[in-house]
Amino acid sequence: MAKIWVFGETTPDSTGFKTTLEILTGARELGGTLEAVALGPGAAEAAKAFGEHGAQNVYVSEDAVFSDFIAEPAAAALAQLVAEHQPNAILFPFTYDARDIAARLAAKTGSTVMSNATQIADEKTARTQIFGGTQVVTVSLEGNDPKLVLVRPKAYEASPSGGTANVVTVTVNVGDETKRAKRVQKHEVEATGPKLEDAQVIVSGGRGLQDPSNFKLLEELAALIPHSAVGATRAVVDAGWVPYAMQIGQTGKTVKPKVYIAVGISGATQHIVGMKSSDRIIAINKDSEAPIFQLADLGVVGDALKVVPKLTDEVKTRKG
Ligand SMILES: Cc1cc2nc3c(=O)[nH]c(=O)nc-3n(C[C@H](O)[C@H](O)[C@H](O)COP(=O)(O)OP(=O)(O)OC[C@H]3O[C@@H](n4cnc5c(N)ncnc54)[C@H](O)[C@@H]3O)c2cc1C
Repeated sequence: MAKIWVFGETTPDSTGFKTTLEILTGARELGGTLEAVALGPGAAEAAKAFGEHGAQNVYVSEDAVFSDFIAEPAAAALAQLVAEHQPNAILFPFTYDARDIAARLAAKTGSTVMSNATQIADEKTARTQIFGGTQVVTVSLEGNDPKLVLVRPKAYEASPSGGTANVVTVTVNVGDETKRAKRVQKHEVEATGPKLEDAQVIVSGGRGLQDPSNFKLLEELAALIPHSAVGATRAVVDAGWVPYAMQIGQTGKTVKPKVYIAVGISGATQHIVGMKSSDRIIAINKDSEAPIFQLADLGVVGDALKVVPKLTDEVKTRKG
C-alpha cells in the first residue's frame, strides 16, 4: 500500500491552502496511507482542516523559521522527515514557495519532480496538459521514492470527508546554513469582492481595451453581477495597467468560474490554460478570426468599448 504525503500550506486564505485541500480530496480516493506535513505558524490549525479532508496523520511544526526564511528550512525539514518515514510520493500545491521547496528537496533526495500535474493516478503516475492545454498526457515517474509532484489549483474540488487527523508534532534540526533567504516584507493586495479563484463570474480584460482607464467598464459590469471579479491577461499586467494579482493564465491564476467573459483578449495558449475549464466562455473581440472564438460558447464580434457599456445597460435594465 502506498504512502502518499501532501505538503500543506498553512495560511487559510491563500491559494496554496485551498489547493492543499483539493489535493487531499483527490488523493484520498487513491487508497493507501494519506498523510500531510504542515510547517510554520498556523500549522496546528491547518492540520485540523487537512484531517477533515482526508489526512490520517499530519506532521506539524509551528516553528517561525519556516515563514521567516524561504524554502531552504522547509526542504531540510522535509528531507529529515522523508528519511524517517519513507513516503512513496509527496504532492505539493503549485505555488511559488512549493516549487522552490520541491526543487530543493529533489536535489537532496535524488527524486523525480513533476510540475503542473492535473491529476494523480497513483503514487508514481500523474497526468498533465501539454501544447497549451490541448492534449492530456500520462506521465510515469521513475527513480527514487519519494516522487515529487506539484499539482495545479482546481485539479480537484475540495470536499471534507469528516475525518480527524492524528497530529504528530515534529522537531526538526534546521541549521543556520538554511537561513539564507529571509522574507523581509509581505505585501497583501487589497481586494474587494470575491477572489478570482472563488468568483462565479469573471469579467476579464486584455489589450483590446486600449487604455488602462477602460478597465472601469469591466468593473462597472462586474459590480452588477453577484459573486463576480475582474481578471486580466499578462499583456496588460506587464504593461502596468492592473496588478499581477489579476493575471489569469500559465504564469497567473487558474480559474474555473461558471461564466468567463473575455473582453479584448486574443486567446493566446498561455492565457487559455488558466481559464479553459470555465463552464461557459463568452468572448468579445473585434477580430472575428481571434483564437478565443474557437473556445467560446458565445462570441460577440465588435468593439469592446461599445459592446461592454451596452451589456452593462442591459444588465441594469433587467435588474430593474
Ligand atoms: C512564458 C509565457 C507565459 C505567459 N503567461 C501568460 C499568462 O499567464 N497569462 C496571459 O494572459 N498571457 C501570458 N503570456 C502572454 C501571452 O502569450 C499573450 O501575449 C497574452 O495573453 C496576450 O494578451 P491579450 O490577449 O491581452 O493581448 P493581444 O494578444 O494583443 O490581444 C488583444 C486582442 O484584443 C482585440 N481587440 C483590439 N481592439 C479591440 C476592441 N476595441 N474591441 C475588442 N477587441 C479588440 C484584438 O483583436 C486582439 O485579439 C505568457 C507568455 C509567455 C511567453
